[in-house]
Amino acid sequence: MTDLCEQVPAHIRGIAPYQPGKPISELERELGLTRIIKLASNENPLGPSPKALEAIRAALPELALYPDGNGFELKTALAQRFALTREHVVLGNGSNDVLELAARTFLGPGTSAIYSAHAFAVYPLVTQAVGATGIEVPARDFAHDLDAMVAAVRPDTRILFVANPNNPTGSLIAGPVLRAALERVPSQVLIVLDEAYTEYLEPTQRYDAVSWLHHLPNLLISRTFSKAYGLAGLRVGFGLARPAVIDLMNRVRQPFNVSSLALVAARAALDDLEFLERTRTLNSAGLAQLAEGFRRLGLPFIPSHGNFLSVEVGESARVYQSLLHQGIIVRPVAGYRMPRHLRISVGLPEENAACLAALERALREAA
Ligand SMILES: *Cc1c(COP(=O)(O)O)cnc(C)c1O
Repeated sequence: MTDLCEQVPAHIRGIAPYQPGKPISELERELGLTRIIKLASNENPLGPSPKALEAIRAALPELALYPDGNGFELKTALAQRFALTREHVVLGNGSNDVLELAARTFLGPGTSAIYSAHAFAVYPLVTQAVGATGIEVPARDFAHDLDAMVAAVRPDTRILFVANPNNPTGSLIAGPVLRAALERVPSQVLIVLDEAYTEYLEPTQRYDAVSWLHHLPNLLISRTFSKAYGLAGLRVGFGLARPAVIDLMNRVRQPFNVSSLALVAARAALDDLEFLERTRTLNSAGLAQLAEGFRRLGLPFIPSHGNFLSVEVGESARVYQSLLHQGIIVRPVAGYRMPRHLRISVGLPEENAACLAALERALREAA
């Protein structure tokens, strides 16, 4: 008798599962620790925007009702913010959902998708899940090699994924350089520009990819409320593209993919510019604090434009374990072929300091 699991297509069985950061509750159970600092999933150390919490409280009595499957209010606000129409917006259960919708809409067996080495793990995952071929292009100094990525486009290529800034490296392609490269991508290839960390960019580094939508008919921009907006637990993100692209993605989208609480919280968070600015200022200071600490410890790190830093610690598995025992959860990135690095999310100043102290102890244990 054949086992039903063996009949599952090889491309599904071959998927390497996504490895999330260890939840605080799990470490509590495993080691009996009570004071745990999680710097593993690039979450906002300030928590959610207070305006989002207020909106959630107000929406609780409506929980028996299905959410608005068209996300009218949130889409209207996003369209207004970006000077687009609602037809330019698709909402996702986190931006991971948007990435998956893009894959399910534009990829399939006999097609290929391009992404960089050391890029966000979800690109190869969603590519493989729909039976398409992933083409990983070697990085340059841990950054996307855009010229090589464009050159890697084949006749069967349908998506080119670009993360800017990228996770877990934190690398950033300057706006003008990015635009020039994207203009050379053939029109049958959807460019998925993942800007999950764009709100963290310093004013001088900012660029406006949304304005490129008018010239690049094959551009899809993906953004999230999980990082700077502090709503990772709610799962809400969005994609911006020309209406024809959005319309196709909406056909494969689950009708109620974004929950009612996520819709109202995101709508409120979008207007909380003060919170966003506080988040960015705290993050800049935290990046500097961690960088300065790594320098003091003699640890090389990749300069980052996100809310995290990847630092080269050598025996990363051992250092990771040592940090866990000291109550600090960071993220191993061996799965990104960075076996000597750990990725550390920026926390509150005292959390960053505790992490650096624990790191120093971990390194001393090894010596
Ligand atoms: C965190 C992250 C996302 C966001 O994921 P959500 O599903 O929106 O929580 C998307 N892309 C990259 C590169 C990320 O690091």
